[in-house]
Amino acid sequence: QSPVPSDIDISRAQTPKNIGVVAEELGIHANEVELYGHYKAKLSLDILNRLKANENGKYVLVAGITPTPLGEGKSTTTMGLVQALTAHLNKPSIANVRQPSMGPTFGVKGGAAGGGYAQVIPMDEFNMHLTGDIHAISAANNLLAAAIDTRMFHESTQKKDSTFFNRLVPKKKGGRQFTKSMLKRLEKLDISKTNPDDLTPEEITKFARLNLDPTTITIKRVVDVNDRMLRQITIGQAPTEKGFTRSTGFDITVASELMAILALSRDLKDMRARVGRIVVGANQDGEPITVEDVGCAGAITALLKDAIKPNLMQSLEGTPVMVHAGPFANISIGASSVIADRIALKLVGKTKDSNAEAGYVVTEAGFDFTMGGERFFNIKCRSSGLQPDAVVLVATVRALKLHGGAPDVKPGQSLPSEYTEENVDLVAKGVANLCKQISNAKQFGIPVVVGINRFESDTDAEIEVIRKAAKEAGAFDAVSTNHWAEGGKGAIGLAHAVVDATKQAKDFKFLYEVDQSVEAKLETIVQKMYGGAKIEISPEAQQKIDLYKKQGFGNLPICIAKTQYSLSHDASLKNVPTGFTFPVRDVRASIGAGYLYALAAEIQTIPGLSTYAGYMNVEVNDEGEIEGLF
Ligand code: ADP
Repeated sequence: QSPVPSDIDISRAQTPKNIGVVAEELGIHANEVELYGHYKAKLSLDILNRLKANENGKYVLVAGITPTPLGEGKSTTTMGLVQALTAHLNKPSIANVRQPSMGPTFGVKGGAAGGGYAQVIPMDEFNMHLTGDIHAISAANNLLAAAIDTRMFHESTQKKDSTFFNRLVPKKKGGRQFTKSMLKRLEKLDISKTNPDDLTPEEITKFARLNLDPTTITIKRVVDVNDRMLRQITIGQAPTEKGFTRSTGFDITVASELMAILALSRDLKDMRARVGRIVVGANQDGEPITVEDVGCAGAITALLKDAIKPNLMQSLEGTPVMVHAGPFANISIGASSVIADRIALKLVGKTKDSNAEAGYVVTEAGFDFTMGGERFFNIKCRSSGLQPDAVVLVATVRALKLHGGAPDVKPGQSLPSEYTEENVDLVAKGVANLCKQISNAKQFGIPVVVGINRFESDTDAEIEVIRKAAKEAGAFDAVSTNHWAEGGKGAIGLAHAVVDATKQAKDFKFLYEVDQSVEAKLETIVQKMYGGAKIEISPEAQQKIDLYKKQGFGNLPICIAKTQYSLSHDASLKNVPTGFTFPVRDVRASIGAGYLYALAAEIQTIPGLSTYAGYMNVEVNDEGEIEGLF
């Protein structure tokens, strides 16, 4: 249709298939699907076991060039490509995407289901609640936060060790017993006793007192709302807390370590182990204290035992979409889950005795390639053990014009004429950004296909400049794609290029080895990905690095939080800046998730709402239908 209707209107005009039908088409057995209404279902992890003999399908990563603040279409391309592969090339394919946080949905960004004729439907169900995974993470995280503060309170108000121990391990009918977590803590403390009554007074003190230093607690409470007023709060102000106040704050749920763990776990057992390893702070001697020590790992896993099952939805053309996990793209990995990718790869994989070709799993990495792409390879692939067969790098004429020197663009404002009229020169200048991102992706040894996401005002001459430069820069192919206006039909060319790319030889390699020093890993990412000259580590960051090394966490991969609007740390440096010194202001640890993260700037871990915010558009009409989500 021309003009293309709004996303919610397109979504609502299409009658989705019952999700049970989508599952059946994928060969999923009835007992492996749990329906959540008509259009959403959770998938059982048993599928992995049933299909373990299958060869994996082809694994395709969609990532982006350095974008404008409007977004260049990674989600739409992911949907469009899978629609083309499945519905037009007849190759079974699954799109794997993140679950959006409701913070941005009601804030500035709006929905995240893709757009136009390449989106997940029903988009309102996708953008709100889904099957409650984010809510489950909030509940689990906040149980942990409550457990930590209450434990510190109890330890400080109960002075006598033996009384405290007796309350911690109470006498029950069948005698008293340590819980599983407690046994793990005893093992960590080298106390080889299993009967609580056998502990010596010294062992009782050592075991019972976590002695958490309140100034070191890193676990904050979380909520899935852009509530800036909660950035810093004081807890414990009621008289019942006897003056035990503490300054802390809230993060948005998707910034929590539990969300990163949901994304990176391979299975339930792995998730339980990772939850137990989360470091919540240090004791008075500077030793790390974990969730296992707090005794909360089992309960958290119980709260997340449904969240670990991927959600099945569908695209506008009825092709399968798995929606699972949504870690923040700045301080975390910004990718959907390892479990969803593993299940999807088996579902479209080849059975031993069949001649049929394997299908495709198209998974998306948030932000630009220097962030989402780099972490996908160095962190997510390390967790999953998987290697992609091709990378699709999404580029737009408008982003390349911005890099070529066109004025800034802002969401909600009309575009300057440089963007609405042909300007081959600006594209030709800005295409260097795409070329750098192609070489960034090629460093991992995987073939790269450039998908030029076509906008109405783009001209053939502008597209041709991009195609030519991309191929000269070593892309396997570069194809203009028009899925936003045409659905899967518009992405057929891209789909053919991707199929061919996955047949090329690959030579997968990581960018760095985890056993390099933290400083060397940081420097490698800055020099090889960002094009910087050197790093400058602040004294605070150096102290943290030294502490983590001492605590035995130096051998983890590293996630760098910076702007996505530049290859560098400075959003105003467009195109391909070089020679810059990259600041490392702080380093933090997500030990359960399994990485350290370095901050190049102060990063907000709970966004705010704007004066005119997304929620102001949203209504429910008399038929009970949601309006105004875009
Ligand atoms: P990303 O995933 O890279 O952030 P999205 O796929 O979410 O980008 O697209 C960003 C926004 O731009 C969405 O609102 C989407 O509907 C819109 N959009 C994407 N591609 C096109 C296109 N070719 N023409 C018009 N609008 C588009």
